[in-house]
Amino acid sequence: MAIRSVEAIPLTHTLQDGRSFGGTRGMTDSRSTTLVRIETDDGTVGWGEAFASPRAVAALVEDVFADAVVGLSPSAAESLAERVYTGDIGGYHVGRQAFTQCALTGVETAMWDVRGKQVGEPVHTLLSGQTTDSVVPYASTMYITEWDQDPAEPMEEAKSEGFTAAKIKIGRNLEDDYRRVSVAREILGDDAHLMVDYNGNYTPRQAIKSIQALSEFDLTWVEEPVPPENVSGYREIKRHVDVPLAAGEAHFGRFDFKELIDERLVDIIQPNLGQCGGFSEARFLAKLAATENVLVRPHVWNSGVGTAAALQFAASLPDYPHAPDMAPEPLLFEFDRSENPLRQDILETPFDIDDGILSVPQKPGLGISVDEDRLEEYRI
Ligand SMILES: [Mg+2]
Repeated sequence: MAIRSVEAIPLTHTLQDGRSFGGTRGMTDSRSTTLVRIETDDGTVGWGEAFASPRAVAALVEDVFADAVVGLSPSAAESLAERVYTGDIGGYHVGRQAFTQCALTGVETAMWDVRGKQVGEPVHTLLSGQTTDSVVPYASTMYITEWDQDPAEPMEEAKSEGFTAAKIKIGRNLEDDYRRVSVAREILGDDAHLMVDYNGNYTPRQAIKSIQALSEFDLTWVEEPVPPENVSGYREIKRHVDVPLAAGEAHFGRFDFKELIDERLVDIIQPNLGQCGGFSEARFLAKLAATENVLVRPHVWNSGVGTAAALQFAASLPDYPHAPDMAPEPLLFEFDRSENPLRQDILETPFDIDDGILSVPQKPGLGISVDEDRLEEYRI
């Protein structure tokens, strides 16, 4: 079986009423991404997501990757990242760069989707040999909004939907950080996992002050307290606080992550399965992380396709160093609660969250079916 075609499908959705929301380092009034659709000569279709500016990354997929991949077996996914790093695909000058990694991810995950369909197994089982039924979803919510939203509102909503864990946006100033975390903790309750995300908006000194001021709230992790490129900042924060640090949504490929892992600058890495280089690369990162006892919890702000890829990847993670079924750390999985029809509406069967548990699709490949008619409504 060989790949016959590669198509990039840029998508966008403008938010209702044009109201922007986001984090400290950027608001958006739309949700956009690019899907990659590959088809093999026996008619099997595979899907992946390249999570970057849609038209630009779509052009990269079609100009650079399509010719390189057409004619290959889907099992060539295993070596695709190496071919990008060495410059065999795309030229070595740009192999490590963000857009190249995003395009690679979309193509590579689509190849894994086809592979899973060929052998009749979900990707997580193909990757790891294990079967995982479910993960614990956490609500990604309490965004910073351009309108004056009461922060209690989205948290009450997440709680009423059954979420038992949540991550919120902070990082505007210390007083606001304290107020927002107080509200979230009060609503969620003392036992719930609560995480905060600064989106890299602080200097190391500000971050240390803020994290110390929040110590009473028993945070499960603190995400991107300083910008992704501020390696010395992570080092400095590590020396001063005793809360797990997380980063990875703005890191691309193995060399970025290796630096975080080798020095244990973070306790949790968060590769995004629309950006990090694909399933093989994500597995590589997970194994690298395990050597330093760094946890892996994917970043997910994607469409239904990227969410499914992240879910399959999360389900493939080992509990190391814990014995099977004796893991004290729940497999927390990011589930965005903001407006994005690309997350659920483009799937024939939306994700199943029930009683604070998210089922891992067990059908072959990514385990989802994309509704191609619905896609047309969002195509750019
Ligand atoms: Mg984040």
